[in-house]
This record gives sequence, C-alpha cells and structure tokens, in this order.
Amino acid sequence: MNTSIEQTGEQAVEQARALIRESNRIVAFSGAGISTEAGIPDFRGKGGLWENQKLMELMSAGGFRRDPAAFYRASLQTLPDIHRAKPTAAHRLVAQLEAQGKLSAVVTQNIDGLHQAAGSQTVHEIHGNFRTGHCVNCLAAYQMADFYDRIERGEIELPLCSECQSPIKPDVVLFGDLLPFDVWGHAVEAARRCDLMLTLGSSLVVYPAAELPKIAVMNGAKLIIVNRETTDYDAMASVVIRSELGDFARMISKQLN
Ligand code: NAD
Ligand code: ZN
Repeated sequence: MNTSIEQTGEQAVEQARALIRESNRIVAFSGAGISTEAGIPDFRGKGGLWENQKLMELMSAGGFRRDPAAFYRASLQTLPDIHRAKPTAAHRLVAQLEAQGKLSAVVTQNIDGLHQAAGSQTVHEIHGNFRTGHCVNCLAAYQMADFYDRIERGEIELPLCSECQSPIKPDVVLFGDLLPFDVWGHAVEAARRCDLMLTLGSSLVVYPAAELPKIAVMNGAKLIIVNRETTDYDAMASVVIRSELGDFARMISKQLN
C-alpha cells in the first residue's frame, strides 16, 4: 500500500502533475533526500549523519586540514556506497523531463554524481563532487575512484599528489569552504529564469543553497516541494508533497508518459 502518497492526497500529486505539464523551463533543485533510496544516507533527516558531531567536525574544511587521512576514513565509512550507487526513480524522472525539453537545468546540493548517471545533461553541482579532486599544493587534477578503492582495501590511508606528494582533496565544498563562484552564478541564473522549481529531498536549511527557491518564487516561478519532512519554505510553495520521492517520481513519470 502506498501510504505516503495517500496521506498527502492524490489531489496534491494531481496539482503537481498539472504544474509540470504546463511548465517548460523547470529547474530541479535536489538535496541528499533524492539519493537515500540509492543507499546514501542524508545529513539532517531522521537518523542522518549530522546527528554525530564528531563526524561533522572530521568532514569539515578545518577537519581536512588538520587530519586529511581521518577525513577520508570518516567519509568512506559514512558514505561507503557513494562511488558505487545507482540513480533512483526521482533522478530518472528529472532526466526524463530534460529529455522531453521541459526542464532546463538541475541544481544539486549533492556530491554523488547520480543526476549525470541518470542521464541529466545540465547539472550545476553547487557543493562540488566527490569524483574528482585536486592537490592542495600544486592543484594537479585527479579522478578519485581508484583512490577510494585503495583506501577501502587498506593499501593507502591518504591520496597523495604524484607531482609533489601533498594531500589530494576531493572537489567537494566542506563546511568552511566557499562555494564555487561560477557554478553558483549558473544556479542563481537558472533559478531566476525558471517557470517552475521542483525541490526534491532537501531540508532547505543549508545556505546559500536554500536561497534558490526564494529567488525562483520572487522571479515569478511556481514552487513544488517534495520532502518527507516539513521545510521553512512550505508556505511559499504552490504544492507541498509530504511523500517518499520514489513514490512521487513513479506516479509522475507514469502519468507524463
Ligand atoms: P539534508 O540531509 O539536510 O536533508 C534531506 C531531506 O530529505 C530531509 O529533510 C529528509 O527528511 C528528506 N528525505 C530523505 N530521504 C527522503 C526520501 N526518500 N523521500 C523524501 N524525502 C526524503 O540534505 P540537504 O538539504 O541536501 O543538505 C545536506 C548537505 O549535505 C548538502 O549540502 C549535500 O552536499 C550534502 N550531502 C550530500 C549527499 C549526497 O551527495 N548524496 C549525502 C549527504 C549529504
Ligand atoms: Zn601536487
């Protein structure tokens, strides 16, 4: 039985479907909740990673500077499947909307690369990604997957630059890091221009990311929020769906086909 959708009401899903139908410059704005069904835990949902303060400290920018090996240990223990996970129904819905010419961009807070894996083409990763990295000293660029496998096999503790032997940092935005300016600029532009923002699985408490739904609404867009829990932006939304993302995605994509 599909309880979550029933609690929310068929009517809300129907309204969301109608808004998606009549929009053609949709921006999907996703958070960690879109990837929990892929086996990657979120940070602030119930049972989320940030209930553990020690982890939060190890996985911050200061934590990386103080002890980069501990950063990698903590990251791979807490997000062990991040480089193996497969996209969910909601990632596929987003890619489908783009392929149908209805969606102009994905803005994601996630670092897992699952939107691209689902086939999305225009993806602005405002918190960076875990696939690539750079030497903290000479800025040489690296693909990270091999390093993660070698850390998990116990062969190395820390990825080191082959040019200068300094630590390599994944291209993720940690607490204490600045957002990548160019990517953030594209995200703001996408939010300004969209006619519908589809917010999927975000607690909307991380700033400046959480400004984006407000920017969209202030520029005339409609807002749909799909999340298990309430958010501070629910009152601003045209439709709020308190549901599992997988249920929502399957219902919408069936009706769109
Ligand atoms: P968050 O953890 O703060 O919030 C996730 C929200 O999604 C919660 O409100 C939770 O109730 C909801 N949720 C979880 N699973 C759901 C499901 N199946 N259906 C519906 N709702 C669901 O996430 P955030 O807002 O993205 O902020 C966290 C930060 O942590 C981001 O900046 C992101 O970079 C990072 N992060 C990324 C990943 C990833 O890449 N997959 C994972 C954890 C954290
Ligand atoms: Zn180097």
